[in-house]
Amino acid sequence: MIVAPFSTKPQVKPSVDLTGNPFYKIRVLKRFEKNCVHLWVKIHLFILAAKTYRSLTTPAKVLKQLKKIREVTMGRGNLKLIKVNGKYYHHLYAPAFPTKIFNDYILGEFNRIRPIRHKSNLLTLIFFAITRKCPLRCEHCIEWNNLNHKETLDLEELNAVVKKFQHDGISQFHLSGGEPLVRIKDLLAMISSAEKKSEFYVLTSGFNFTAANAKALKDAGLTGVVISLDHFDPVKHNEFRGFGDSFSQAIQAIRHAQQEQLVVGLTICVTKSFLSWHNLMAYAELAKKMKVVFIQMLEPKAVGHYANKDVLLDKAAFAILDHFFETMNSDPRYSDFPIAIYHGYHQRRIGCLAGGNRTMYIDSAGFINACPFCHTKNFNVKDLLVEENNSEALIRSAHCPA
Ligand code: SF4
Repeated sequence: MIVAPFSTKPQVKPSVDLTGNPFYKIRVLKRFEKNCVHLWVKIHLFILAAKTYRSLTTPAKVLKQLKKIREVTMGRGNLKLIKVNGKYYHHLYAPAFPTKIFNDYILGEFNRIRPIRHKSNLLTLIFFAITRKCPLRCEHCIEWNNLNHKETLDLEELNAVVKKFQHDGISQFHLSGGEPLVRIKDLLAMISSAEKKSEFYVLTSGFNFTAANAKALKDAGLTGVVISLDHFDPVKHNEFRGFGDSFSQAIQAIRHAQQEQLVVGLTICVTKSFLSWHNLMAYAELAKKMKVVFIQMLEPKAVGHYANKDVLLDKAAFAILDHFFETMNSDPRYSDFPIAIYHGYHQRRIGCLAGGNRTMYIDSAGFINACPFCHTKNFNVKDLLVEENNSEALIRSAHCPA
């Protein structure tokens, strides 16, 4: 397969600036600095494991297992590292290093490999759809049947859910909807009243992600934002999103988030019509120019607005995505591009990490599902708030049906 950088040439000149915010403090680490930070992390992990297991032999075995998991989720070779505002990031679903939240996350991983004596995080993260409201009409919307009804959870209940998961131990909340920025007041209240022992990300189309809201979210304690951008061509993105101004809003949202030094990721639903090596590279070029940290590729699934539609990708498409993922994360020629995130890569190698294992999905109607795409509707999140219920057993029951 030919691997060559492409330039991004949208069919229609967008009215927004397609470069990242010049004040954004981001740096993709080069070889020497990257190796130094990797060594620092290795020593840090060894000391953490030695203290946890009170042993000098167990850490080596546990860290070997941890490395295997890392290789199937991120590919082989030295991980790409991106420094944002003084902290290091290697995966959208792993907390920043060095932080206490990172240590707690690692202890949760240790516990899965070899049980540890004290309490550790039950989950790595949850996707939590906090609103049913959305002005967009996206082609692939997984929440399609839940949208624009009366809200399921009031602010008190939203806060209670966050408190419950924080009590059980969790590294990150990824708050979605609907469009979470429609519920900006409650969103701010939720994040600001949570304990500072988890990271918070907002998953948005860019709608209502104004400069003022970006600042308010940062002040409340937001770590980052994952912005949906489904094409480098503004017209095609807007068509996909069923919203005329969506491309400009997404681009503006990136720049506003960068102004506040938030971690910025892009997410794309890689449809059959989009999927080609050329398009992926054009998208990556734009992401690099926009100085984003992560590009997340999601495969279309026949749920929500795509229900009963012929949208599933085939083996040839998986091969292109695998190759793109490995290229972005390991090929030295792309060392200054964003970090690629692609769940299909590890799902086809070691299985699913969702379904009450490390993650799960609370939909906007309050149902707990194995993940955003497997709508298992195991139970209602309000069941977790009933003290007599065994929340760990309930969470484990939301396992992946695939
Ligand atoms: S995918 Fe998100 S932004 Fe699009 S219609 Fe659904 S909830 Fe709204």
